[in-house]
Amino acid sequence: MPGKVILVTGGSGLIGKAIESLILSDSPQSEEWVFLSSNDCNLCDLEATRRTFNTYKPTHVIHLAAMVGGLFHNLAHNLDFLRKNLHINDNVLQICYELGVEKVVSCLSTCIFPDKTSYPIDETMVHSGPPHSSNFGYSYAKRFIDIANHAYHEQHGCNFTSIIPCNVFGPNDNFNLESSHVIPGLIRKLYDVIESDGREFTVMGSGKPLRQFIYSHDLARLIIWVVRHYEEIEPIMLTVDEKAELTIQEVSEHIAKAFNFKGEIVFDTTKADGQYKKTASNAKLRGYLPDFEFTPFDVAIQQTVDWFKANHKTARL
Ligand code: NDP
Repeated sequence: MPGKVILVTGGSGLIGKAIESLILSDSPQSEEWVFLSSNDCNLCDLEATRRTFNTYKPTHVIHLAAMVGGLFHNLAHNLDFLRKNLHINDNVLQICYELGVEKVVSCLSTCIFPDKTSYPIDETMVHSGPPHSSNFGYSYAKRFIDIANHAYHEQHGCNFTSIIPCNVFGPNDNFNLESSHVIPGLIRKLYDVIESDGREFTVMGSGKPLRQFIYSHDLARLIIWVVRHYEEIEPIMLTVDEKAELTIQEVSEHIAKAFNFKGEIVFDTTKADGQYKKTASNAKLRGYLPDFEFTPFDVAIQQTVDWFKANHKTARL
């Protein structure tokens, strides 16, 4: 008889699938895991959320479900990102409170931090100024989670916390050119170039912005640690070390190498760059897990490219 029922919202997404693959290979008998997609329940609907959570009666919830997208998708849909994510987050936390869920781990992001800030950013700075105008809808809906976590804790003693990943990539990502994040977007683009015998790989923007990227499998290992062992209400950054920051140009070169592409990489400087950098500190995480080893970036990119080549017919395009 499992002692814990751990329900994962957004279980069909990039991060949810990475957690599922780890759990399938190594999960103690005392834990039962449930992975939900939007087909199981539309979390924008309070009654549907209540019904679904009542069916599984989770003791723990990893709340990943969200409307998620890259820079250009956010720019065009700030209202949708705000409203959908506010609804989802409010419904999930309220139902978890009603059902007496012992612990909820929800997901923020490094891209919700103040636009004008000092670097590196850390967990204490989430609310210290307005977010970048490109994704203010998504950002405020995510910041609401941290405010709600504190309010549920103060008023009802709930153990609701949050994690702050940097950019995530890996198998099962969204490879749609309109709505994807930068790495899956570039992988898809180069795949299409190679398929059509093209010689030019065009990357939007100058290639100069800096980003930290975490492999979905590494993030999954860290999220499982958080749900089992992290006991603070305050968020924790789940990001690679600062020295692992890369320019978009370096990322493009790694992707080209993984495809063995010998053509030219061109940067379209007429397209927006977004924030120049968002360097995040993982000092708090390192305080807990000083020896955690992240997968080397080139290995993780190669595995992601190989996955996409093998699964492009069924991948999210
Ligand atoms: P994906 O886009 O890959 O997956 C989103 C998940 O949310 C899917 O399982 C989707 O279900 C589900 N979902 C969306 N809308 C609803 C809804 N109305 N009701 C129920 N489920 C819904 O996202 P990721 O795995 O990339 O992201 C997971 C979390 O991590 C998100 O909260 C995101 O904000 C956060 N994050 C992601 C980063 C990244 O780089 N990817 C970086 C930092 C944070 P379905 O498959 O059925 O559509």
